[in-house]
Amino acid sequence: MSLSAKFSCQDDYDPNALSVDQARQFILGQLAPMAARERVALRSALGRVLAEDVIAPCNVPAHDNSAMDGFALRFADLEQSAVSRLKVVGVALAGNAFDGSLRAGECVRIMTGAIPPPGTDTVVIQEVVQTEGDFVLVPAGQRLGQNIRLAGEDLAIGQPAIAAGKLVRPAELGLMASLGFAEVSVKRRLRVAFFSTGDELCSIGTPLAEGEVYDSNRYTLFGMLSRIGCDVIDMGVVRDDPALLEAAFSEAAANADVVITSGGVSVGEADFVKQLMAKMGEVLFWKIAMKPGRPMAFGRIGEAPHAAWLFGLPGNPVAVMATFYQFVRDALYTLMGASPIPAVPLLPATCVAPLKKFPGRTELQRGLLTSENGQWVVRPTGAQGSGILRSMSDANCLIVIEQDRGNVIAGETVQVQLFEGLV
Ligand code: AMP
Ligand code: MG
Repeated sequence: MSLSAKFSCQDDYDPNALSVDQARQFILGQLAPMAARERVALRSALGRVLAEDVIAPCNVPAHDNSAMDGFALRFADLEQSAVSRLKVVGVALAGNAFDGSLRAGECVRIMTGAIPPPGTDTVVIQEVVQTEGDFVLVPAGQRLGQNIRLAGEDLAIGQPAIAAGKLVRPAELGLMASLGFAEVSVKRRLRVAFFSTGDELCSIGTPLAEGEVYDSNRYTLFGMLSRIGCDVIDMGVVRDDPALLEAAFSEAAANADVVITSGGVSVGEADFVKQLMAKMGEVLFWKIAMKPGRPMAFGRIGEAPHAAWLFGLPGNPVAVMATFYQFVRDALYTLMGASPIPAVPLLPATCVAPLKKFPGRTELQRGLLTSENGQWVVRPTGAQGSGILRSMSDANCLIVIEQDRGNVIAGETVQVQLFEGLV
């Protein structure tokens, strides 16, 4: 079934007022993770998607070891309700075990990570004991097995440590290293080709002529795609010329999994981008109930095996970023095989400035979230025109104003999406 047939079969389809959620769900419903995978050295897996489950090939920790600096002893040697006096007969260091044997009433000085000598079952921390020459005085009240980490306590041999689909972060690198993996199997990087369309665009490095603007979209796209970990194919600026556009689309579809363009998808615009997308593929043109980012195209372009998914984003620089984050980001993660897709939570904050807003579309204003008197408050970052990239650069979050909502009065709660995360 064609994309448009599938789409129009859906209930409440209204091409003039497609909600953000409807568009997102339709797009994600079309996509399946790509299968291609490769083996890479552990460090190179950072930011990649695991292609198979990571199964523990050994116990973690590999052997019982002390969780603290102190004294390893036999619990049975301790008095239950009085101080016990034990002779210290040696030292166990991490990586350097005590190789003697212990008789009744003896103990060993032990450091964190060291293996408790055979026969010992309990570690008493050094802070609670008193030393008397070669002896230590251990107070009553110790528990059998305390301060010893058991082999396999974190992970036992054969247990799944990390599921396929996980996006590898620093913690996963460390976890896989702790299991001894020097190489891991990850999904191939997604190849994303992009170009800007418009006769008015000038590439950086060339002086601006009358009526031209520098092409900024290729740089925001480069940045956003690189952060997600895609291989980028920057195809430059393509003039509003049918032959050039057709050649660019063919080349992009042949080399990439996904093609992203900016500009030329506006409603009623007399340009060739829309016509060519329709001619060369199966593409839906949407008017999304969202500001900025109303016009957008989505579909497939090119012929198998050289077909690619296509996102035709609007031309306005802020609209490119807004549509990328609301639609393209999750689509790319889905194709990459990321499961779950890293979530971008909506967090409540008090809006300390009034915001103008018409009901009927989702609005994404650029906001600065700060903490005032222990409360998270947000204010918009100056002029909010969809061409004003400065509003994005000054911002640290998007203020997401729900479709049905009208003006926001200062002091009301709004939802925000943070730009930066901890990892
Ligand atoms: P369009 O969607 O092609 O009608 O473009 C909408 C607006 O965005 C126009 O003002 C364009 O000049 C501007 N624009 C389009 N593409 C770019 C780009 N790559 N870089 C900067 N501005 C752009
Ligand atoms: Mg244009």
